[in-house]
Amino acid sequence: MADATFKFPKGFLWGTATAAHQVEGQNENNNWYAWENQAGRIHQGEKAGLACDWWNGRWKEDLANAAKDGQNAHRFSIEWSRIQPSANTWDEKAIEKYRTMIQGMHKLGLEPMVTLHHFTEPLWIYENGGWENPDTINHFTAFVRYAVDALKDLVTFWVTINEPAVYTVGGYLGGGFPPGKNDLGKAFIVLSNLVKGHAAAYSAIHNLQPNAQVGIAKQYRAMAPSRPWFPPDRWITRFSSASFNDAFMGAILDGNFRFSLRKESIPQAIGTQDFLGINYYSQDQIRFKPFAFNAVFQERHFLPDAQLSETGFIANVPEGMYAALKWAHQFNLPIYITENGVEDAQGTIRPAYLLAHLRKVWAATNSNWQVRGYFHWSQVDNFEWERGWSQRFGLWGIDPESQQRQRRPSATLYGAICKENAITADMVRKHAPEMLKELFPG
Ligand code: BGC
Repeated sequence: MADATFKFPKGFLWGTATAAHQVEGQNENNNWYAWENQAGRIHQGEKAGLACDWWNGRWKEDLANAAKDGQNAHRFSIEWSRIQPSANTWDEKAIEKYRTMIQGMHKLGLEPMVTLHHFTEPLWIYENGGWENPDTINHFTAFVRYAVDALKDLVTFWVTINEPAVYTVGGYLGGGFPPGKNDLGKAFIVLSNLVKGHAAAYSAIHNLQPNAQVGIAKQYRAMAPSRPWFPPDRWITRFSSASFNDAFMGAILDGNFRFSLRKESIPQAIGTQDFLGINYYSQDQIRFKPFAFNAVFQERHFLPDAQLSETGFIANVPEGMYAALKWAHQFNLPIYITENGVEDAQGTIRPAYLLAHLRKVWAATNSNWQVRGYFHWSQVDNFEWERGWSQRFGLWGIDPESQQRQRRPSATLYGAICKENAITADMVRKHAPEMLKELFPG
């Protein structure tokens, strides 16, 4: 049989993504630390604790493994609460540590992509109302200015804010994130302030570094009506997707921010994106529920025949990746998949999930859509927010107690893809033979 190959474009970025609070450990001055110390907030009372011990230098080992496996980029975040521990204190040692880390990445041949806000903020910001308080926009911009000025000679790619809609739903619509509120009015204010924070950060970065590439990492949640023939299901699906998927980018497109049934004009946001980061994990089917006031008149479920991840958190729906890319393509910006992955401690689903999703990414590049890179979530298992350590997304496993790492087979598969800049039939035969027919029919 002639061996077909899915080739990716020259210069494609291949990496993994991480976030400070999830991998660094000993982050004790932010909202998540406070949250973890409240009873009943995190799965089985677990804590980030030492996490993957990156703050003590274990990033060297994990990123050396990444580089050895052919990766050429790494997305990670810097922790605001370390760099600005209180309103008037800037910690030069912390920023120096990040400099060392980024220099380390360059030595390993990894292009850094730096996220400036990944779900956490300093306690002093949190106690002041977090993103409910419009002052946070200016505080965030000051932090961004300080950090970018200190790191701009080492970094081209900046992600201002990770998943603003997930942050908002998580914290303000009952999603298990701090501050644990359920208030649509506050959710509107928070997401609107995040748009303004992003816009201000965009200008601040470009003032300091004109050639910077600045974007957000947008979680695109694919959504489809549960009963496509039933108009209310179609309507509630459109409504949910408009709020969750479109609100932030709408403001960047034409300055009109629309979330739930309200709108606001944010003209300063227009055009404040050089690239679009897409985080894609899964797809929901949505069913209209007339009396479900607290659930915004809906019930969600996964496609009944979809393969589910270990804890049932993710359904393997690669078509949703294609939908995400199609959605992203409309903005006519370079696209990076800034996160994609599945929780799978046993390593039984990940190879097939990875291949099927990358096949969709390839299809998009092959239509000349501007997809420039892919960052798998994640290099090594890490602290999964309110789900604690119950979900294992790493190409490498970790025992957080002993800090022992364990290579999973998907690290080898992903390594082969990165090194070849391609998916070959041989790789599929070796790592997920059950996918051969689907990927290479005929
Ligand atoms: C977040 C990551 C998280 C991942 C898997 C994304 O929403 O950006 O921080 O670990 O999902 O749960």
